[in-house]
Amino acid sequence: HPELSTLVHTTRFHAGRQPETPAVICEGRTLTYADLYRGSNRLAHALRAAGLTEGDRVAYLGKESEHYYEALFACAKTGTVLVPVNWRLTAPEVSHILRDSGTRLLFLEDEFAPIVEAMPTEPPETVVPVRSIEPWCAEHPDSDTEFEATPDTPVAQLYTSGTTGLPKGVVLAHRSFFAIRDALASEGLDWIDWRAGDIALIGIPGFHVGGLWWATQNFNAGTTVVAMRAFAARQAVDLIRDLGITTACVVPAMLRLMLTEPGVSAKDFTTLRKTVYGGSPISQALLEESLAVLDCEFAQIYGLTETGNTAVCLPPAAHVPGGPLMQAAGHPYPGVRAKVIDGRGRELPPGAVGEVCLHTPARMVEYWGLPDKTAETLVDGWIHTGDAGYRGEDGYVFIRDRIKDAILVAGENVYPAEIENVLEHHPAVGEAVVVGIPDERWGEKVHAFVVPAAGERPSPRDLHTFLVPRLAAFKLPASYEFTDHVPRNPSGKILRRELRDRFWSDSARKVN
Ligand code: ATP
Repeated sequence: HPELSTLVHTTRFHAGRQPETPAVICEGRTLTYADLYRGSNRLAHALRAAGLTEGDRVAYLGKESEHYYEALFACAKTGTVLVPVNWRLTAPEVSHILRDSGTRLLFLEDEFAPIVEAMPTEPPETVVPVRSIEPWCAEHPDSDTEFEATPDTPVAQLYTSGTTGLPKGVVLAHRSFFAIRDALASEGLDWIDWRAGDIALIGIPGFHVGGLWWATQNFNAGTTVVAMRAFAARQAVDLIRDLGITTACVVPAMLRLMLTEPGVSAKDFTTLRKTVYGGSPISQALLEESLAVLDCEFAQIYGLTETGNTAVCLPPAAHVPGGPLMQAAGHPYPGVRAKVIDGRGRELPPGAVGEVCLHTPARMVEYWGLPDKTAETLVDGWIHTGDAGYRGEDGYVFIRDRIKDAILVAGENVYPAEIENVLEHHPAVGEAVVVGIPDERWGEKVHAFVVPAAGERPSPRDLHTFLVPRLAAFKLPASYEFTDHVPRNPSGKILRRELRDRFWSDSARKVN
């Protein structure tokens, strides 16, 4: 629908055309497009009546629900900016986000009220419990507001997870939720096609750019979004089967959990037409297994909060087991450019590993209140991703891993994802994570955490023997540790720092 260019009109557009189509299904409750349109209008008027004006920040601390999306559209319709807060955060972390963003109004689920009470700072001036949203706005009209946005009007401020330091507020404008769709449509491409009648599962939480992006793409297309309060593999599989879900957006860790759920088989996924995955590197073993079990198309997305989610996509046609592109993150969309630079900012030729930079119309406006950080990351329209990778001759982008996760063994950069990938091909390995630990002789050495596959008990010797013909000697783990789970953040990223810290004494602490 090319006439849609901001989220202001999304709900009106579909409420006019298909009022009875479900827009959001969550825990058995359904909100049609007519409901979402009217509900978000009432909420928008209520925000205005509470004194909020353009540019004010409105935070939401709660699990996934239809109210979250009403709040998103209400913000769009008032020019206020939604600040989604990860509900797994602690009181000091929530306090940082609310204070840093200057949030004036907070939608708060009761479950998280103790977090807000425990904050070292005062709560925002207005706190509206999520359960009271309906009565709070019931008296207000369900007609449109007068606010008009442009594609450059800010609409969301998402905090990075802080795996790289204090969370920063990434300001995204409406453009971030439309640019990629428009670019694909202008070229007649359908790498990620949203079709009328689709029912889409959101695995990635809505407070994360991946979940928010996927939800908005579906709303713009007028399809149905199925949200889970919080991702649970069993529930996800049941929803896919019972609701006839046709598309899903997940991080690799969610794919793994669904596939290893006892009793799950290809039969559970017969309605699934497309699986979109991304957010962290996927191991080849997991990707191949997913292709074997799920009889559907796959598209990988790669990007950052700062690039408005995906800037690069590995289209379904590239998903050929054993094929040359299976290790790629994808190709830049039309209108997106990718380059790889060295430490001095010089562009590198295809094949050379350096920092990946992306130039995308969906990029962030800025880091909120951090002009210096913005200037470091966003240079002449290019987002410096902090990811190590290279370009292929044909423009495909290959991601090695985050630069700061590289392990420096005797002057050689070792990227954890490469070793994890090989280890996970061992049949007795369920999941593997490697980190760098101090080594007197070589600076750092590789230490592997291994979660055995169900019923398996691999030994370090087995694993070493398996790796020797497959990896250069300096990449081989010097030690192994068996564990039953790997710590991840809600968007599926491995919390390497948690695993790494105990190996580094204060005097030899590894930065990041
Ligand atoms: P912080 O920057 O504070 O760590 P974050 O982890 O929440 O915050 P995001 O914007 O969510 O940041 O994540 C972006 C990162 O996720 C990318 O820089 C990259 O490392 C990783 N990533 C995303 N998609 C892919 C993919 N398809 N393959 C490999 N890595 C990916």
